Amino acid sequence: MRVMMLGAPGSGKGTQGERVAAHVGVPHIASGDLLRAEVRAQTELGRQVVGCLDSGRLVPDELVFDLVLPVVLAAAEAGGYVLDGFPRSVAQAVKLAEHAAGPERVIFLSVPEPLLVRRLLERAAVSGRSDDTRTVITDRLRLFESETRPLIDHYRAEGVLQEVAADLAVDEVTKAILAAL
Ligand code: ADP
Repeated sequence: MRVMMLGAPGSGKGTQGERVAAHVGVPHIASGDLLRAEVRAQTELGRQVVGCLDSGRLVPDELVFDLVLPVVLAAAEAGGYVLDGFPRSVAQAVKLAEHAAGPERVIFLSVPEPLLVRRLLERAAVSGRSDDTRTVITDRLRLFESETRPLIDHYRAEGVLQEVAADLAVDEVTKAILAAL
């Protein structure tokens, strides 16, 4: 089963994505985790993307495709995936569709913006992530609105989108997602 988690920063994509992947028995593929691992390992790609990560900008498509696409295609071939953070724009979704490896189900985790900000600021206290600061959080939320939100209509038009209210307790949200799937 090919599932994609879609939601703003702070919507709980990561947490829920891991749970859904464990339940379905497919890998959880988080583009942000893959990118941060490159930075930690101080690879050439890591050096190219660290500025984008720190400032909350999107990493250029070519770099994302080089790093993430092979992992996604291998998983699709092997039986499925839960995607988290990729695709992040309509252009990235089109690229994935060209490989006939797009999601069969897209779960949109909807959370009111004030709660997103609160969750991200709470996470900032413990995450150590360089992009969990108030200014960068605001920029990441803006970028979600301009670049990623159009994916909602894109996947709705394909008939694969399901919206789940994600402003509830973690277990409640997981239950709702599994019911939707
Ligand atoms: P969040 O969605 O909570 O902001 P992620 O871990 O998904 O966190 O992403 C962190 C950062 O990684 C983004 O701000 C962006 O710089 C980069 N990134 C992750 N996925 C992509 C992608 N598909 N395309 C471009 N940049 C990405």
